[in-house]
Amino acid sequence: MQDERDTQDGLEDHSTKRVVIAIDGLSSCGKTTLAKDLAHHLQWLHIDSGAMYRALTWLMIQKGWTIEELLQHLEDVELELTRENGEALIRLNGQVVRDELRDPRVTEQVSAVSMIPEVRRFLVEKQRAAARNASVVMDGRDIGTVVFPDADIKFYLTADEDVRVRRRHRELLEKGYEIDEEEVRRQIRQRDHLDTTRAHSPLRKAEDAIVLDTSHLSRQEQLEEALNIIRRRLEKITSP
Ligand code: C5P
Repeated sequence: MQDERDTQDGLEDHSTKRVVIAIDGLSSCGKTTLAKDLAHHLQWLHIDSGAMYRALTWLMIQKGWTIEELLQHLEDVELELTRENGEALIRLNGQVVRDELRDPRVTEQVSAVSMIPEVRRFLVEKQRAAARNASVVMDGRDIGTVVFPDADIKFYLTADEDVRVRRRHRELLEKGYEIDEEEVRRQIRQRDHLDTTRAHSPLRKAEDAIVLDTSHLSRQEQLEEALNIIRRRLEKITSP
């Protein structure tokens, strides 16, 4: 994995230090899109931690396992992050998994899998290891609170529910899944409820997180807004 080497927009000054940007928030408020765009712009590594929880859920569905059976097999699961063409991909038992992680069956069950402490321990260790030698932008639910409580910059994204439902619905239709908008709303509500009320690492805004409401921002606008904040923060971090 490469280390910092950004040369754009005056953001190169931080490069003596590994930088971690944490992005947390409710479902479908644009975390992964922002994280991906920032990482691309900064030439850092993007890690979609939700995709890691989805990968274990996908494996459970594929094998026809219950959650208990998944836990029994967890030690033997090979889940690696590999960097290919500037993108962090998940290899699950040797196979790259990507589009299948968006399958509605995975979305339906992932919150039940992610509330299990053993599952969280297994994945948090990998998330921390991936950032050991590289500057990263990582998105999820507990990145700024649990995985990297000392992250250099933390964002907490929000967006109106209607906006989130429309975005997720459009994304699913584009991927070829036929699903109606009210079903998407039900799934989002259920997932947010489980993710915010679970006992272990529930979604919370870290005290020092910067709130970014993306309801009325285009993809480009949210990127620019986040970059402006990062520039100001990194100047503070690196100035003597
Ligand atoms: O971000 P995404 O919607 O892909 O995340 C899928 C699910 O994975 C979330 O609903 C949540 O249950 C779980 N998750 C988590 N902690 C993270 C990232 C995701 O519990 N850091």
